[in-house]
Amino acid sequence: MAVVEQEINNGSTVVLSRKDEVRQILLDEAKLSLNITEKGISYNAEEIKRFLDPIELKSGFNRGGGITGFSLPHGYNTRGHFSRWTPYSLVVEDGRPVLYDDGEFIGEITFNKGNPVSEQLLSTGEKVRDITNISAQGGLHVMYSNECSLKDLGEDCLYCAFNERAKDGAANKVLLKSPRQVAEAYDIARRAGAANHFRITGGFVPERRELEYYLDVADAIKETYSSFYGCAVVGAPADLSVLSKYKEAGFANISTNIEVWDKNIFAAMCPGKEKRNGGWQHWVDALEYSVELFGKGNVHSAIVAGLEPLESTLAGIEYLASKGVVCHFSAFRPEKGTPLEGYRSPDAAWHWELLDKATDIFRRYGFTTLQMYSGNASGPHSAQFFQIKAGEFKGDKLVPWKFPSLD
Ligand code: SF4
Repeated sequence: MAVVEQEINNGSTVVLSRKDEVRQILLDEAKLSLNITEKGISYNAEEIKRFLDPIELKSGFNRGGGITGFSLPHGYNTRGHFSRWTPYSLVVEDGRPVLYDDGEFIGEITFNKGNPVSEQLLSTGEKVRDITNISAQGGLHVMYSNECSLKDLGEDCLYCAFNERAKDGAANKVLLKSPRQVAEAYDIARRAGAANHFRITGGFVPERRELEYYLDVADAIKETYSSFYGCAVVGAPADLSVLSKYKEAGFANISTNIEVWDKNIFAAMCPGKEKRNGGWQHWVDALEYSVELFGKGNVHSAIVAGLEPLESTLAGIEYLASKGVVCHFSAFRPEKGTPLEGYRSPDAAWHWELLDKATDIFRRYGFTTLQMYSGNASGPHSAQFFQIKAGEFKGDKLVPWKFPSLD
């Protein structure tokens, strides 16, 4: 096996195997991804638009406009907003989109492609993409409602743009999706091999409606299929015993998103979650109780990374992992129309340290790649990094991960 030497901090050198060398290349690419996300990327929109997939452009995850997400030369997926004042630029060379860093050639990138099944029509006239997003991993993401009732109470989470996004009528044609519509979209996607995971989430609704709605959706799916593999993203219910109903309905995973680990910052950032669901401790109790029902690694949570000190977020990830909960995280991005508009997320180095240390925690507690992808929507951010540390790459490329086929 080929070996290379690498200089380490004290000036001495260590011999790296080819596998270690590739792992380092991929880790550097993950770092590059964080830098692009922080600093943005410049490009000529007219020149680049021919490479953008029209289906992917219409995805709910591309509401910012501009370019879609893309894979870096070794396969790490990223996205970046347009900026004139950034070292990163995309140019077209020999008919290929190519990335430069401050004039230094990085390599060819590949824009994400949507699944053509997203364009199929339901019997009610909507398209599959009006009901669900189909992920690159072959899973569905359903946002069953586009509004959170905490807004009317003046208690919505300070960083959350959920209700702001609902104002975009083009991206949110169906404000409340019926269980029938969800089941029909699921059926179309599953017949195309694209529904090997089914995640359902939404805004804050009175508890009983959330439970009944999820059970109705599961029943509608099971009229056609004996089982499905999925995750119910729910608020912490007042009566924890109702959590077992999600399991009985067929959900293999459950996610209750704590958002912030520090109790006081949680209360300030999430006033509705603090007031209406028994506060921070009750959310943690719900997670620990869920592990008794769903098993270690099948209970998920999420933290919006950048709203509290790094040590606090890592303490939360470590504590929850010790209880069997995979606590994913996304990078805080201040959004228009929210009370935190104009704030800044910590820099790329901060997010890098979190990604690096959190992934080590996930590996130490024995979570699997499937579990890293099976929770809430912020999973892929750390799942790709997890794959690198787990050595899941071929040649010098990260392996595009897919959910195991159900059929
Ligand atoms: S409960 Fe969820 S949807 Fe509602 S404001 Fe908070 S983060 Fe947003």
